[in-house]
Amino acid sequence: MSTFQAPKGTYDLIPPESAKYLAVREAIAAPLRNSGYGYIETPGFENVELFARGVGESTDIVTKEMYTFETKGGSQLALRPEGTASVLRAALEANLHKLGNLPVKLWYSGSYYRYERPQKGRYRHFSQVGAEAIGAEDPALDAELIILADQAYRSLGLRGFRIILNSLGDKECRPVYREALQNFLRGLDLDEETLRRADINPLRVLDDKRPDVQKQLTDAPLLRDYLCDACKAYHEEVRELITAAGVVFEDDPKLVRGLDYYTRTTFEFVHDGLGAQSAVGGGGRYDGLSEMIGGPALPSVGWALGVDRTVLALEAEGVELELPASTSVFAVPLSEEARRVLFTKVTELRKLGIAADFSYGSKGLKGAMKSANRSGARYAVIAGERDLAEGVVQLKDMESGDQTAVGVNEIVAELESKLG
Ligand code: ATP
Ligand code: MG
Repeated sequence: MSTFQAPKGTYDLIPPESAKYLAVREAIAAPLRNSGYGYIETPGFENVELFARGVGESTDIVTKEMYTFETKGGSQLALRPEGTASVLRAALEANLHKLGNLPVKLWYSGSYYRYERPQKGRYRHFSQVGAEAIGAEDPALDAELIILADQAYRSLGLRGFRIILNSLGDKECRPVYREALQNFLRGLDLDEETLRRADINPLRVLDDKRPDVQKQLTDAPLLRDYLCDACKAYHEEVRELITAAGVVFEDDPKLVRGLDYYTRTTFEFVHDGLGAQSAVGGGGRYDGLSEMIGGPALPSVGWALGVDRTVLALEAEGVELELPASTSVFAVPLSEEARRVLFTKVTELRKLGIAADFSYGSKGLKGAMKSANRSGARYAVIAGERDLAEGVVQLKDMESGDQTAVGVNEIVAELESKLG
């Protein structure tokens, strides 16, 4: 193992590509900030118990994918594999739900950790931006979140994503369906582990990606046919609201999600350019989660969008983000005095909000101009002894190649008007 190798299943975000990740996070966050969601940040690790209860003992995330460890003090902790349980825990701890202001709407952005088999789009460290609306049962809230995710992807220029939608029922109708599904699954030719799963959490068998399993599931009973009237009406209202917003979606009666806590509305954002790891984001309603982690009844809904896969989706579609040039002006001093003068000018430009950089070290003209080129700057400001003796600096337009002398005292104003 090389000292310079990131751990298996992880990778570094490095300029210039890293700018894309920032832009994606920003694009997902913008519609949330604009819709009453407040920013929340929680620790990178929590007590194991939170995820065991909140994500579910029978999920792959908890049984196989979680990084758990014991601290020197003897606490059992886990690196967070997802955001929802932590955000709800934090909201309960801060009593946000008692301020008489439900729903509590929060958004977050951060790193998540799952011990998975690394492959394209599937990493052991990845990043998500997520949103949770806690403490209200209102189809408009489910619709709002779906519409905001759609808006986020569209603002990035993504077109090839699809929204798939289903309802998982509630504590009234789901148990009836669960039993019907269990009876059906018991009649199939399944391996022992899958049969055990059918006993503990039969809905998750529907999510089995193996073709031989999927083939046997063709005639599985569908939750759609078991929804109670309240769930049916709720789901219909969500569908109508997102349709009225012009958001296109597909009903998928077999869509279930990997987490135990989902009820009613459930959805996934998929992108067909990503191969096997096609889900770029997902979410849904989790009316029972608060009680599962020991809180009061707080019906809630949320989603998490994967930043890594969103960047891959942009690449698959060939979308070039319009990233602002990181440097607009690059200063090239050719003498000691010029270093002092241009360094002062660069500082002034930066104070005015103009992105400026400087040729550091003692490079010759050729090396410094190479740096100026590489920086992507629109203008270079070059000065040597002779220029300063005449009270000027050379302003070079890096696009046209034109170079003109500008007075030392005028250069900042000149650049400000050119770039403004
Ligand atoms: P999958 O079915 O692909 O394993 P998931 O259902 O486990 O996805 P969620 O828990 O819903 O994923 O997480 C939401 C989003 O986070 C996913 O749609 C994906 O974009 C991203 N994500 C989840 N796990 C990973 C991972 N290991 N590497 C990169 N991104 C991930
Ligand atoms: Mg997964």
